[in-house]
Amino acid sequence: MEQKQKKPLGQAKQGTVLHNPSPCPLYRKCGGCQLQNLAYSQQLKWKQDAVGRLLGRFGKIEPIIGMEHPYHYRNKVQAAFALTKSRKIISGVYQSSSHRVVAVDHCLTEDEKADEIICSIRELMPGFRMVPYNEDTGYGFLRHVLVKRGFISGQIMVVMVTAGPIFPAKKRFVQALRQLHPEITTILQNINPYRTSMVLGEEERVLYGPGYIEDTLCGCIFRISARSFYQINPVQTEKLYGKAIELAGLSGRERVIDAYCGVGTIGLVASRSAGQVIGVELNGDAVRDAIANAKRNGIKNARFYQGDAGEFMRNMAQDGETADVVFMDPPRAGSDEAFLSSLLVLCPERVVYISCNPQTQCRDLQYLVKGGYRVQKIQPVDMFPHTAHIETVCLLAKAQG
Ligand code: SAH
Repeated sequence: MEQKQKKPLGQAKQGTVLHNPSPCPLYRKCGGCQLQNLAYSQQLKWKQDAVGRLLGRFGKIEPIIGMEHPYHYRNKVQAAFALTKSRKIISGVYQSSSHRVVAVDHCLTEDEKADEIICSIRELMPGFRMVPYNEDTGYGFLRHVLVKRGFISGQIMVVMVTAGPIFPAKKRFVQALRQLHPEITTILQNINPYRTSMVLGEEERVLYGPGYIEDTLCGCIFRISARSFYQINPVQTEKLYGKAIELAGLSGRERVIDAYCGVGTIGLVASRSAGQVIGVELNGDAVRDAIANAKRNGIKNARFYQGDAGEFMRNMAQDGETADVVFMDPPRAGSDEAFLSSLLVLCPERVVYISCNPQTQCRDLQYLVKGGYRVQKIQPVDMFPHTAHIETVCLLAKAQG
């Protein structure tokens, strides 16, 4: 079951404390929570102002949707491992400005069960002669541990990211870990032999369970695998998607495109109030999950395609296809010209643009406004409390005349 949310630490009622008197002790060392010195209400104000500066030129900014209990919201946690000079194993995060591992046992933003599991793995390591991987020498075994937890389902996935394929005593290890944490529902090994800062490699082996977890979001069940994107804050994701779908103003008949669709979340939730949904996504694992998700939920009016969203849109435009509503949710870099110019050719009534980077969103909105669209609504949603990350959803409609 879902965990109990803890009361915010060291905070009085919202709006009465300007500075958070007890930020995390690793606040400076870790660097992950850039805004933690501010009380939550001040963080929201900071984000509201930042969106205003960037997107205010397009219209009024709705008040940011904050989180009621802005702690332990991350349902995906990854830890790096390292040896200290005294050869003690530590686990935690890379310092934001360097590649040194900062030891973190508890984090105010991370799921507490995930943190517990990571500590247990670290404690099991010496008994299994597991050595942390050293990025400089390329020596060692365990690179990362990734834990994903279904917020509603409570299902837990553990991914052991190793430098090589050979996992000594893996059966015994899986047994020992499950004994400590019977709540784990699947364990995988991901092999990442590359000299890279990417956490996951391409090869994956299932050590226990089905190799994926499921969770419920906006009334649909979603399959989450190790490598596909899934929003990390389930409470706020429901609010974000709810808003996006409300803005799309669907009547049950529309032809909808879900671009950059990940595992199909937005499109599948929207499919209940649309005629037809077409999803496109670059990551093959995510597309496979999206197709399985449609089936799992008995949804028959959604199709998913693997490919570059820009190319896909260009092909659609060239083939004379149409769309009534386009949802777009690109990565931080935003969309590209191929996508945006084809969008103008397809000319849907409404575009719902979800973004995790208001800078690139601003650039893309400018392009669409020049191309004949009007920004009708700008709604920030706080998906990442304590960090400086900002998420917004904007509605664009064809300008009249
Ligand atoms: N809408 C989804 C995923 C959003 S994250 C959700 O809310 O869960 C952005 C997604 O864009 C990722 O799944 C990423 O794999 C995908 N992506 C990145 N570049 C892409 C491209 N050029 N074409 C299509 N999809 C892309």
